[in-house]
Amino acid sequence: MKDMMPVDGQFAMPTLPYEALGAVISKETLGFHHGKHLKAYVDNLNKLLPDSGFENLSLTEVVKKSEGGMFNNAGQVLNHAMYFEQFSNNSKPMGEKMNGLLERDFGSVEAFKKEFEQKGATLFGSGWVWLSADKDGKLVITQQKNAENPVTMGLRPLLTFDVWEHAYYLDYQNRRADYLAALWQVVDWSIVEKRLC
Ligand code: MN
Repeated sequence: MKDMMPVDGQFAMPTLPYEALGAVISKETLGFHHGKHLKAYVDNLNKLLPDSGFENLSLTEVVKKSEGGMFNNAGQVLNHAMYFEQFSNNSKPMGEKMNGLLERDFGSVEAFKKEFEQKGATLFGSGWVWLSADKDGKLVITQQKNAENPVTMGLRPLLTFDVWEHAYYLDYQNRRADYLAALWQVVDWSIVEKRLC
């Protein structure tokens, strides 16, 4: 994803490129998730920015350098921008390059998906499960709490599933594992692969 820059010291709402995601995520869930939850993070971040010393930085730089309320809201804007961008109702399948990297670092694509789902399902409380590349290009899965993003650990984030309850509760109630398993149907791998370089 292209790093977001503020305009006149304010970040714009990341776009939602679809209304619903097939039978995987409903229009109602996305209406609340994007229109209410993400909107609140963007509004809160924009209220904190003036005269903060952070108002001319890119979103990723704010996430790397801030703490407290600024970090929580900036992190959630970055996390959600990446989350909503990576899905599509006409999703492109995984290309050879990503397939090869996942086989190299996890044994197989299925083993990667299993570990990713398991780490998402077992993250206690609110947060995100991430696939990232480390400084040597090795792919790693991390569990991150609340608003955390792998960029703070020097990783390059590639793919994320949101496991805050607001991401799935209207459609899946307590069945977080079912939500995670269903999301693969709408991951657009062409977008994930663009994040590799
Ligand atoms: Mn969310």
